[in-house]
Parts: sequence; C-alpha cells; structure tokens
Amino acid sequence: MNKTKIIATVGPATSDRETIKSLMLNGVDTLRINMSHSTPDFCREIVSIVNDLNEELNKYVAIMIDIKGPIVRLGKIQNNHAFLKKGDKIRILMEDVLGDCTKFSVDYKELIDDVPLNTILKIDDGLIELKVLDKGFDYLLCEVLKEGEISSNKTLNVPNIRLNREFLSEKDKKIIKLAHDLNVDFLALSFISSYEDILEVNDLLINLGNNHLQIISKIENSCAVDDIDNIIKVSDGIMIARGDLGAEISLERIPGVQKRIISKCHAGGVVSIVATELLSNMTNFDHPTRAEVSDIANAVLDGTDAVMLSGETTVGKYPIEALKTMEKIIKVAEMDIDYDNILEKSVKTEKRDVTGTIAYSVAGCALRLKCKAIFTPTMSGYTAKKISRFRPICPIIAPTPNFDTTKSLALNFGVYPILIDDLKSIDAIVEKSKKMAKEMLSLKENDSIIITGGYPFKKIKSTNFMKIEEI
Ligand code: PGA
Ligand code: MN
Repeated sequence: MNKTKIIATVGPATSDRETIKSLMLNGVDTLRINMSHSTPDFCREIVSIVNDLNEELNKYVAIMIDIKGPIVRLGKIQNNHAFLKKGDKIRILMEDVLGDCTKFSVDYKELIDDVPLNTILKIDDGLIELKVLDKGFDYLLCEVLKEGEISSNKTLNVPNIRLNREFLSEKDKKIIKLAHDLNVDFLALSFISSYEDILEVNDLLINLGNNHLQIISKIENSCAVDDIDNIIKVSDGIMIARGDLGAEISLERIPGVQKRIISKCHAGGVVSIVATELLSNMTNFDHPTRAEVSDIANAVLDGTDAVMLSGETTVGKYPIEALKTMEKIIKVAEMDIDYDNILEKSVKTEKRDVTGTIAYSVAGCALRLKCKAIFTPTMSGYTAKKISRFRPICPIIAPTPNFDTTKSLALNFGVYPILIDDLKSIDAIVEKSKKMAKEMLSLKENDSIIITGGYPFKKIKSTNFMKIEEI
C-alpha cells in the first residue's frame, strides 16, 4: 500500500469510461479536471462516470475541479499554429484578431495598461519569450527574444507583475457553482496572488452553502510564493504548480521553493501536492528518465502528501503505464522515509491539545511496536488527518459511514478511507477493526494494530481514546 497519493488529470487520452476505470484500478486517488481546457459538459460527463465507477468498484476516488484563474491566454491562432522567430517584431492586440506570426490577441484587454515598457512576457510555460518595446493605441509592440511555436489558448505569463485583474471571472464563478452542484471534493485555484483571493472564493462557497469543498491553492507566481504563510492558513492544500511557476520565477529556484513549501504545509497541517513534469518523458515513451525517477523519489522524501500527473495522462501515449510507473517509484522511495525524524519534527508544531497529543502518541506507538495498521473510525476525517501529519510507519485506515468523508481523505498521506455502517460502541469499533485488519492486510497472529478515535462517534473533532490490540 503506497502512502503518497496520486492525482491524475483527465483529458482526451483518458476520458472514456474504460480508461478511467483502468486509472481507478491502478491506484489513482484523485482525478483532476482542468477547466482551462475542458467544458462544463465534459466535466459533468467525467463526474458521472467516476460516481458510477466508485459504486461499481467500491472505490473512493475523489474529483478535483481546477479553475482557470486570472491568467492571460492567447486568442485564436490561424490553423492553430504560428512560429515566432527570434528578433522579429510582433504585435499583441487588445482587440480580437485571428493570430499569425506577426500578431495575436489576448483575453485580457487591460494588459496594455498593466505592463510597463521592457517587461518580459512568457508564452507556454516560458518556451517563448517576448519583450515589450512600445505601446500603440490598442497594441503592445514586442520583440521575440526566445523563438518558438504558439497555438490558440496558450498561457501568457507576466513575471513579477501583479495584474489589475479581478481574481474571479464570471466564468470561474459559474464553474465553482458547477463544482458545488456536482458535489465534487476539491477545488484547485490557479494563479492566486495572495490569501485574499482565497477569501473571495470562501465567500462564494458560504453563499452557496457549501462547507465541504476543500480548497487547493496553486502556487504558480512569485506573489503567491511571497504570501505562502498566509495562503496556507486559509487553504486545505497547496499545489506546487511547477509548470507556470517555472515561467514566473527562475527554474533554478523551484527545488528550494518546493522543499520550503512542503515543509511549511506539513507544519501548518495542510496537504501538499507536487505537480507537473514528474514523468514528462512518458508523454511519448513507455519509460521514465533517471532524472524523473529521482524527482518523484525526492518529492516523496521531502514529505509531500501527493504527486500529480498532467500531460502524461491528458494527452500522453502511455497514461496507464505512467500511473503504474509512478506507483512503483513511490513504493520504493517510501522505504527510505525517516519516520523517527519526521515524528519528532512534527510534534514541535503540534497544538498541545488532546487530539494532537493522541495523534502523536499513536504514530510514536506504531513506530515503537512496529504496528501493522492504525484504525481510526471517523465522521469528519479529522483524527485521520491529524495522525497523517505525524507520518506513522503503517497505514491509517479510516472507516466512516459518510461517503463524502471517504473522498475528502483522498490526498492525505497514508490514509485509506473505507465505507462502513454506523458503529454503536467502542467494543463494536474494536471488533470491526480487527476483522477488517485481517481481511484487508492479511495480518498474522500477534501482529498489533492501534484503534483510536472519538467516542461518542457522532461528536466530531473529539479524539479521546487509543487502544492497542493483537490479532
Ligand atoms: P496547470 O497547473 O496544469 O493547470 O497549468 C499546474 C502547473 O502550472 O504546474
Ligand atoms: Mn498552471
């Protein structure tokens, strides 16, 4: 059982029922729908397939809807490609035009007011670079510094400049409403610049009466890196979105930023996700590069909760193989996790309350006694998340009668939710846990498990017991 969770992005290569089924059978924990490239109808279709398959396969795969955010995108390009040659002068028009190798339009008409002369603009995660030379009445005149091919809808990053754009467009608001209507589990926010952007989304969710959609803040520009401490306080999880981040800050800074953010997420008790290009090579080939294996293993050893596949599963030739490769790399990397060290580090940032103390004791006890599993029956998932922070050596099985709770745990390191009937007493919880341990984990006689939780069961966020049992 892998502890680090896997997110796969759904796209043309993976949108049919059979391929989604295969992803679900091969260890995916969360499926992401990227609304920068998907329609609401596509989204409805995928959600309905996943709901069906969860029932058919007894799985708890969660869904993440990822909104586009205030990024600037190119308009339509003639024949969907044009080559921008180094040294050429091109115009970025604020009016809609069909683009070619001399001009194109953008979907943010006030860009002209926000960028000063000499600003560097980056297209397609930095593959192409332009410099603003001059401004006309309704266009920016730019020189091509780094040449390459552009196509319709590609991103245009403006590093180090905070655009005067509203965080939530009308379109994104509609998608958040859709995420609410479809009862999905995670909402990923692209291009946040500060914690205030998240508060805006929170207000919207309160108005919708939604209190369970978990917010994943994507860190993909320097403003978000600078405001990370505040962002962590108001998020359920953080995605280190290395694709756009690598265009907005220098590539060389990414490894350090990644390590720092993972560590801050851990201290703050929110999940971390490392995203983009983890297995790029597998978009076209059936094997990873050595550097990719190393990158994934290092993300695991840095202590991330989850890793994400993007192009590999949206447009790649080997989506299922990429997922299996990811599983295999994670499994081996996890053997080198320094559980003792993480446990001692984690307790320094834990509140001195009953739940935190029991969670620490449970993880410590599992390590000392080499326990095979921790069972934590839960209504809200709270105790399971707390224990996950201490990175225990064995799986955390979270039985719950609440289907939404199973999926809400899809990104937490080491947590395996399982749907059960309501439990009436501690004795019933203990008996049920022992039975499940035998069935799920093929334990041997004298293997120990820990059972922990809150009783009465219905009262949430009140962990108050732990029990060690032998099989
Ligand atoms: P995206 O986000 O795939 O939605 O662009 C991830 C990233 O930028 O790394
Ligand atoms: Mn991005």
